[in-house]
Amino acid sequence: MSSLKVMRNYRFRLYPNKEQEQKLLDWLEACRWIYNEALAQRKNAWEQERRSVTRTEQQVWLREAKKANKRLREVHSQAAQEVLFRVERAFAGFFRRVKNGDTPGYPRFKGKGRYKSLTFTQFGKGLGACLADGKLRLSKIGLVRIKLHRVIPGKVKTVTIKRDATGKWWAIFATEVEISAPLVRPGPAVGVDVGLEKFATLSNGENIENPRHLIKTERKLKCVQRSLFRKQKSSRNREKARRKLAKLHAKVRNQRRDFLHKVSRGLVNVYGFIAVENLNVRGMVRSHCLAKSIHDVSWSEFLAMLEYKAAEAGTKLVKVNPSGTSQECSNCGKTVPKDLFVRLHECPHCGLVLDRDVNAARNILKRALALEAA
Ligand SMILES: [Zn+2]
Repeated sequence: MSSLKVMRNYRFRLYPNKEQEQKLLDWLEACRWIYNEALAQRKNAWEQERRSVTRTEQQVWLREAKKANKRLREVHSQAAQEVLFRVERAFAGFFRRVKNGDTPGYPRFKGKGRYKSLTFTQFGKGLGACLADGKLRLSKIGLVRIKLHRVIPGKVKTVTIKRDATGKWWAIFATEVEISAPLVRPGPAVGVDVGLEKFATLSNGENIENPRHLIKTERKLKCVQRSLFRKQKSSRNREKARRKLAKLHAKVRNQRRDFLHKVSRGLVNVYGFIAVENLNVRGMVRSHCLAKSIHDVSWSEFLAMLEYKAAEAGTKLVKVNPSGTSQECSNCGKTVPKDLFVRLHECPHCGLVLDRDVNAARNILKRALALEAA
């Protein structure tokens, strides 16, 4: 047995009163301003001087900006500071992709109402945020009503206050949980290939389908989205449709999250070794195709869940380079080119005939086992 630390998020519904809500909204706007300013500084420095602005430089700038702007001083200092970390992360992601040879767009400026969360980076009595009398105490905001539907395990590191598209507030606790797990658990090995139509195909030929209710809600969502485009701007009907859309979005997200939890739990319970494609290598290209982008989002969410559940259970998770997994023959290793619509892998070299996705899943497993043996 060994122990390791993992980060986990726990979300709870938050019920600020009118006054607290107004304050939070003001803070979000102020943070949005900081975000956009900090982003512009980095963007300009890069475009005009090919120079990277550091977070330390921006911290100095923020201190000065606060002196001149009362609105910024009102925001809790941790929450204001944390904005600079977000900008730093956005740019790090941008440069990583440039280095990989992609041509990503710059991190985007946030329009009014598009900045939705703020983070208290210290948690505990006397710090920025803490729990007190069954409520959430936020420094400079006060005691906020919270629905603590479960105990929060582990040590809380940060609390993020978030307003969703339907106007509901949430508190998301990022905690560090120490887990003890056997280093490796014996169990069968499996390769997982994710798809657009089916959620995933396993190397043993099993399929994991997207749940019907999720497909139905997603279809409905598309429908409402289309009708929203047709409605006149600022009409009452449009506002109604907009609300309905936000609700549906939230529903889809929840249904998808439930599904992903179930699938990742199921895999970890059965297998001792799981091989998956590495998302970073594949590159999260900003896609114009809705189905594709939904798919990418749920895949990265799924990987994150699989990662911590596997770590807990002692299941080995191995990520492999995904390029060419569908074109390679899983039996003889020769390349068998085929278009996306060709659903069957038929190898002219060794005669293997196999479902295209199962062949890909087998290649993923093979690559992972080869990595392990190396
Ligand atoms: Zn072959």
